[in-house]
Amino acid sequence: MSKLRPIKGTQSLTGEAAERFNHVVRTFDEVRRLYGFMRVEVPMFEQTGVFARTMGETSDVVSKEMWSFESRSEGSVTLRPEFTAGIARAYLSEGWKQYAPMKVATHGAAFRYERPQKGRYRQFHQLDAEVLGSDDPMADVELLCFGAQLLEELGIGGVTLKLNTLGDTESRDNWRAALIEHFSAHRDELSEDSQLRLEKNPLRILDSKDPRDRPFADSAPAMVLTPEAEDFFGAVTAGLDAAGVAYERDTHLVRGLDYYRHTAFEFVTDQLGAQGTVLAGGRYDGLIEQLGGPHTPAVGWAAGVERLAMLIGEDEASEGIEAAVLPMGDAARPHAIAAAQILRGAGISAEIFWSGKMAKRMSRADAAGAGAALIIGDEEVAAGTVQYKDLKTGEQRQLTPAETIEPITDIAAEAMLAEWDTEEQV
Ligand code: ATP
Ligand code: MG
Repeated sequence: MSKLRPIKGTQSLTGEAAERFNHVVRTFDEVRRLYGFMRVEVPMFEQTGVFARTMGETSDVVSKEMWSFESRSEGSVTLRPEFTAGIARAYLSEGWKQYAPMKVATHGAAFRYERPQKGRYRQFHQLDAEVLGSDDPMADVELLCFGAQLLEELGIGGVTLKLNTLGDTESRDNWRAALIEHFSAHRDELSEDSQLRLEKNPLRILDSKDPRDRPFADSAPAMVLTPEAEDFFGAVTAGLDAAGVAYERDTHLVRGLDYYRHTAFEFVTDQLGAQGTVLAGGRYDGLIEQLGGPHTPAVGWAAGVERLAMLIGEDEASEGIEAAVLPMGDAARPHAIAAAQILRGAGISAEIFWSGKMAKRMSRADAAGAGAALIIGDEEVAAGTVQYKDLKTGEQRQLTPAETIEPITDIAAEAMLAEWDTEEQV
């Protein structure tokens, strides 16, 4: 029989890598709540048109990265390459419009057919936040604050927020014409991809990574904003200033997808080389119309979980257990599970080290981060108690399992305070 192998570009995680991943997702969920974003769930696959119609046929995602299949009853379906289009589809088909303006967040797997490499997978995971049904620049500001605070809580350094405006439809159309004029003068010197983009989506040439395109992209004219677009952008930057979120204007920043208007942004780190974008998004006032819905202004961002997980420190992610329970002999085993259940019921994490030599079990408890141990021998079984041991001071006492809750909680609180102190000093 041939050996089973994973699908290329997918990952199975354990240990520290899984901890980091989970830490990113957990932190996202905590910060989401701070900003009052509602959690939503959307399907992992959609009719292909949901993505093809909204993301633009010339985008990299639609032209070459989608995982599409013919299904028995639904025609062509596609595994989601991102969340925005599916959320917009749900907004229309599930009647979410009634909640507008709607602040939503979700996370999960996304799929793109790309060449796998470090930080680039075929199944990866995204965090996603969107505000649907609001044309208020303060929605953009809140989303940017949310993104900035997430990166801060994760302890990711060397991050710059690059900010641009793609203007309103009028300024964008004028700019498009100016870009076509500029690039047409150098048509033969552009890459083959960009020669195609010139017709369909000249903005994308600015985003090109091909060295043949870079000189012309860098010398391209900047957008001339209409007064309305200027006002909108001014309100966004004033909001960021008020919130104390630093940004850099990057007039050549365009997002890869066609549906963006006004605000476009990327949080970029200097630590990941070519995969430096960790969180990106913008305003997509045209998207829901492209799905056949009414004009619906909206803004959002997405972040790659794997790329964030690569950037966080090991200490940041590790979350040890609080108590170790060690039954000595068979008679102590039911007592061990009873004691552990009392602790867990009180919100204390407890792991039972069922068997092996005492010293070996103690060192495993230590490695798991336990601050206290509950040792249960024949004597404790008879008395209905445990031998409680503070693993830092070595102090031991006979206590009932319930009586250990208080000292264990104290140890955990002290450890948390110590952690805050060291963070303050950094
Ligand atoms: P890139 O320029 O690196 O291809 P992108 O512009 O295609 O990124 P977006 O569509 O903006 O990426 O997706 C948002 C985030 O999702 C990215 O900033 C990145 O962190 C992550 N991401 C995108 N594609 C992948 C992938 N194939 N593997 C892992 N993470 C990815
Ligand atoms: Mg990409």
